[in-house]
Amino acid sequence: TINDHIWENLEKWADKTALVCGITNRSYTYNQLYKYSRNFAARLRTHLKIKEGDVVCIMMSNSPEYAVVALGALEAGAVVTTVNPIYTPHEVQRQIELSDPTLLIGQTETISCLKEALFLVKKNLPIITVKGSESTIPSGTISFEELALGDNVDHSVLKEVSRSFEDIAFLPYSSGTTGLPKGVELPHKQMVVNCLQQDVNTIRQYDETTSTNQDVTLNILPLYHIYGLTVILLHKLSIGSKIVTVPKFQPNTFINVLKEHPINMLYAAPPLILFLSSHPGVTEEHLASVKVIASGAAPLPTSDVIKLLEKTKPAVNFVNLYGMTECSPLVTAMSLGSNNYSTVGHAVSNTELRIADSELKPLGVNEVGELLIRGPQVMKGYRNNPEATKDAIINDGWYRSGDLGSIDKDGVVTITDRLKELIKVKGYQVPPAELEHILKEHPDVLDVAIVGVPHSRIGEYPKAFIVLKEGRKADVDGITSFVNKQVAEYKRVKEVMFLDALPRNPSGKILRRILKEKYC
Ligand code: ATP
Ligand code: MG
Repeated sequence: TINDHIWENLEKWADKTALVCGITNRSYTYNQLYKYSRNFAARLRTHLKIKEGDVVCIMMSNSPEYAVVALGALEAGAVVTTVNPIYTPHEVQRQIELSDPTLLIGQTETISCLKEALFLVKKNLPIITVKGSESTIPSGTISFEELALGDNVDHSVLKEVSRSFEDIAFLPYSSGTTGLPKGVELPHKQMVVNCLQQDVNTIRQYDETTSTNQDVTLNILPLYHIYGLTVILLHKLSIGSKIVTVPKFQPNTFINVLKEHPINMLYAAPPLILFLSSHPGVTEEHLASVKVIASGAAPLPTSDVIKLLEKTKPAVNFVNLYGMTECSPLVTAMSLGSNNYSTVGHAVSNTELRIADSELKPLGVNEVGELLIRGPQVMKGYRNNPEATKDAIINDGWYRSGDLGSIDKDGVVTITDRLKELIKVKGYQVPPAELEHILKEHPDVLDVAIVGVPHSRIGEYPKAFIVLKEGRKADVDGITSFVNKQVAEYKRVKEVMFLDALPRNPSGKILRRILKEKYC
């Protein structure tokens, strides 16, 4: 199981810190993490009657305890489904209905939402509260601390837990960028494999300290999302890294975390890269210990990377990561020494890629089409949704990513857009990312999203949503002429709207469907 994989080398780093909260400095060593997660697992079996295959739902922000409860629930034989801690009761209701959990785990801040969601579902389930730095737990809930912490818990019940490599470990939900989130079944095997795929030829090649497990990893990306969960938490625990958790992004507290903790591995998504590169409060000093900066989960403007690297030491490596919930998530990563930041690099080990046309016939080198993926990290399927699974995993195990891209002669992948987000103008397809890249270069533009507005005669036309840099004036003509002189007539931007911020989901993706609903 993924737990066995993580504990395989426990004795090598037993007394080292596994996780520390970047704000309160509350921490667990590897030994403590091992013991407390097994305490928790044993208590789940004896006190809460958790059985193999039961779904346990976690709604928590990043904290050292996240690892204890997630690994503990797996150790007890359960399947873990993770919920965004800022979800509303209505959103949680949907995930509870779809995943059908037998137990909910929250933290002081999320309990009332979980209770409201249960009311909406008309169910009564036990709730465990992780109190973190709070002193009391909400009424009617069970204390995590009482279950998991302590020295004398009997672990013998864990011997009877039967879990195989093929059993489902995690049931995360996709980000819901293109539709409603879908439950993705990821067996233990997929999680172990994807951790190993990072060891072999991606992130680890950047880090000369592989064997001495000295790196300090930033964990500000949310753990409920697959990027934080596998690439940061599970993978880093399996190699003995020290993980610094940050519960939520807040500029000043985050800058303080960078000051107090010597981060080597800085995992980010594009909005964080933009923040680090453009915020005057982030200086060279804050990034002095950084060895690797990684970005993933959404398209990244090259100019933001270049600006950020101006603030770091020349030896810092930047790596773009590409993947998705359905692939556990990692599919490609930029190779060491590459500075082609507009690409997402090569396939990770044991992973085949193919570009296909709309009839799924293979295309050639540098041709743009849908990216298909085959490898051991591809999901088992969507939970209770054989139809959607059949559409996603076609014959011979190829997974349809829904992303458009191309592969060059060296196997380097470029992602150009998402199939569902193409704008259709007079029968032509306009990729919004292309117009966004151009507008990112405009001196007044901080952030931009292009969305198709429905039109009775031409189908759709591109509209630009612009966030200006501080102190710049809104100039519609300046913006439209800047982009329109660089593109063919059918791609021209016909409308501009200025916003204070773009709607994004926590993994950093622009929610074009929200812009569409609200303003188009
Ligand atoms: P849903 O499937 O529910 O619409 P989603 O696809 O956004 O949501 P995730 O699994 O979190 O949910 O995201 C995977 C997607 O993120 C990929 O299919 C791709 O479009 C995008 N993505 C991930 N990494 C990168 C990257 N490095 N560059 C560009 N796009 C990326
Ligand atoms: Mg998707």
